[in-house]
Formats: sequence, structure tokens, C-alpha cells
Amino acid sequence: VGGPAIRNMATVGGNLFAPAPYGDFTVALLALDASVAAEAGEMPIETFLAGRDTSRAVVTAVSFSLPKAESFRFLKVSRVKPKGVSVLSIAAHLQFATDGTVTSARIALGCMADRPIRAKAAEEALLGCKLTSEEIAPALAAAAEGISPITDPIASAWYRAEVLPVHLGRLLLG
Ligand SMILES: Cc1cc2nc3c(=O)[nH]c(=O)nc-3n(C[C@H](O)[C@H](O)[C@H](O)COP(=O)(O)OP(=O)(O)OC[C@H]3O[C@@H](n4cnc5c(N)ncnc54)[C@H](O)[C@@H]3O)c2cc1C
Repeated sequence: VGGPAIRNMATVGGNLFAPAPYGDFTVALLALDASVAAEAGEMPIETFLAGRDTSRAVVTAVSFSLPKAESFRFLKVSRVKPKGVSVLSIAAHLQFATDGTVTSARIALGCMADRPIRAKAAEEALLGCKLTSEEIAPALAAAAEGISPITDPIASAWYRAEVLPVHLGRLLLG
């Protein structure tokens, strides 16, 4: 979720505050439904992110349940590897029934707003689907719902919105 310098020097606490296009690690934490602890107590990461602009709290811990093998997927799309700034990032925590249908989906997106957000319409559309290109098509179509991608020197908002379903599809099928 980051180039060598970031993995070596950066902190998780700082990552929670990184504005888009930075902060890929927080995208992964959002998909994992992490809890963020500060002096005032613990809260879901989604609540924390919504209030982070006015937060004066010092984050002391971030925790989450380890996902089952194969249930967690992460993709960072950048033009320069491994240290490039994100065009976008996607994290997905998926659970499956024994026949392979999705029973629970939590998908987080980076660069699709000023901070990591969930793709709630896509999450809903995935329920009951098997991960085939036909069955995930409605989820890919729904992925753009509620997004407000950023424009920066890496990519325009239009471009990011155009390629989001392509990369989400690759993540789900890959
Ligand atoms: C060139 C560049 C490339 C980057 N690449 C990536 C990348 O590939 N992937 C990625 O995920 N991120 C990336 N980032 C974003 C960022 O550097 C990292 O996310 C990093 O984790 C930030 O950590 P830091 O400790 O340096 O935070 P700082 O930059 O020191 O802090 C950021 C903010 O968070 C506040 N803060 C820090 N710790 C806490 C705490 N415990 N409690 C409360 N507030 C706190 C600081 O006061 C500050 O306001 C990149 C940034 C840059 C500039």
C-alpha cells in the first residue's frame, strides 16, 4: 500500500489524515472496518474519517479482525511503480458461501473523494453474486454511485471515474 519510503518512515496515525491522492493504507483499513482509538475512546474508522478535519485527538491505536485468507483484496493503481501516487486504490473484504456466492462485501475506494469512502451501492449489488464477469456487472455499474473523484496532476476526475469499474472488475475477478 505504499512505496519503500512510506513503508519505512510513515505512521498509521499519519496515514489516517492523509488527503487524497495519498493515504492508501487507510483505504485498506476502511474495508477491514477498523476501529480507531484516541483518548476519548474508540470509534469505527468511518466515523473517524467523517470527523477528521476537526479532530484534535491523538490516535493511539488502530485495530481490526484479521480477515480470512483470500477474503481481502487490495489494488493500488499508479503510473510509476512501486512508489507512484495513486490514480486510485481499492480494497475489498468479501465473504463467501460454500457455493461461492458473496454473503458480505465491504469495498473502500481511494481518490474517489477527498478521503477514503465506501462503495455502498457496489457492495449491495455484489450480495448473492458469484465472482464472474456477468454477475459482477451490476456492481461495476453501481461503483460510481456517490463518488466525487479528485483532479490532480496524476489524473482528472473524469478519468478516475472512467477507470474505476475497470479496476474494480480486475480486483474482483483476479
Ligand atoms: C510523496 C508522497 C507519497 C506518498 N505515498 C503514499 C503511499 O504510497 N501510500 C500511502 O498510503 N500514503 C502515501 N503518502 C501519504 C503519507 O505520507 C502517508 O500516508 C503516511 O502514513 C503519513 O504518515 P506520517 O507519520 O508521515 O504523518 P505526518 O505527515 O507526520 O502527519 C499527517 C497528519 O496526521 C497528524 N497525525 C500523525 N499521527 C497522528 C496521531 N497518532 N494522532 C493524531 N494525528 C496524527 C499530523 O499531525 C498531521 O496533521 C504519501 C505522501 C507523500 C508526500
